[in-house]
Amino acid sequence: MQKNFLMQKDKYQYSVEIAGSCNLRCPSCPVGNMRDVKEERPTKLIDSNLFYKIIDKISSEAVNKNCFVSVFDWGEPTLHPELPKFITYINQKGLKSRISSNLNHEADFRSIIRSNPTEFQISISGYSSEVYSTTHARGNIFKVKSHMYKLRQYADQFKASTEFHVCYHVYKHNFADEFEEMKKLSKELNFKFIPILAKLMPIEKNLAYIMSKNGENNKFNDKKNFINDQDKKIIDLLFVDPYEEYKEWKKKSKLKKNNLTSYCTKREYKTPIRVDGSVGLCCAVYNTSLKVVNNFLDLPHDKIHELRKNNDYCGTCMQHGLHDNWKMKQSQLFYKSLLGNNFISKLQRKIFKNFV
Ligand code: SF4
Ligand code: SF4
Repeated sequence: MQKNFLMQKDKYQYSVEIAGSCNLRCPSCPVGNMRDVKEERPTKLIDSNLFYKIIDKISSEAVNKNCFVSVFDWGEPTLHPELPKFITYINQKGLKSRISSNLNHEADFRSIIRSNPTEFQISISGYSSEVYSTTHARGNIFKVKSHMYKLRQYADQFKASTEFHVCYHVYKHNFADEFEEMKKLSKELNFKFIPILAKLMPIEKNLAYIMSKNGENNKFNDKKNFINDQDKKIIDLLFVDPYEEYKEWKKKSKLKKNNLTSYCTKREYKTPIRVDGSVGLCCAVYNTSLKVVNNFLDLPHDKIHELRKNNDYCGTCMQHGLHDNWKMKQSQLFYKSLLGNNFISKLQRKIFKNFV
């Protein structure tokens, strides 16, 4: 999933990946851009018993009263036929449930909405077929739109309290007219429209890109993470070139008085659990080797957190600003305004499209 990393510090999140792969092949996502490492990744569906045990443990550890369980990381959760039961179970435990879907699979949306997930995110990157399928490769926008209508219909029918978020991934090819159209559709359906500047994922690709531009090399720069021609094409479509972002971050971090380089919200506020029950270093890395525990059930939360904190990959990630810079551009005045909801923002999008 293109991630909405805008985490709130009063919330703790677990991502329990229930499907280890996806029906789409987005070029900005490791499912699409790291196919060669797929044998290493657990890509099946989660075993139901394992899922319930994981939820029991999360519930008993009660890290935070405002605890969200997202049933995805690098996969499409609607592929799992037990999804409605999983959502019901999470809700019964007093936890908050979150789904993120590309809405391309003919899933049982009736049962899914009836189970009343707390939040349902729709990940999308266009309004027309041509634009959408460039960045949601293999996707069909007509299916997506028809499923969006179904979600609204079922939510009304079952009086679901679900909050729907349309997470619109913003690239250079979709930020003007397509953006307005999808905003309009979201409004019609009473879904919250949330534009997010798209990024290249995962962290490993970014690190390889930055280090190669810097002429650096080290043990983490594995061949499978290297930037290929497809990655270069997607980087050209991004507002956030990872190397430019790194240079900007470097300048800013030198000016900071406090040493904030060892703090990462993705590590402090989120635990990623993969389909086989193992715990990844964080939700933004993909390689199987970047895991800290083979089974989430074996160790208490604090111990797992300690192991994540002591992992030396984080040090390299932090030295290159990748733990910190994901929100940098999105919070700049120009981009805040570009993605905004008022008349000036609309005008800015209209004018700016002639310059990119
Ligand atoms: S829909 Fe989400 S998980 Fe699937 S390939 Fe695209 S970004 Fe990755
Ligand atoms: S420092 Fe980097 S690798 Fe470590 S948890 Fe944060 S984002 Fe992930």
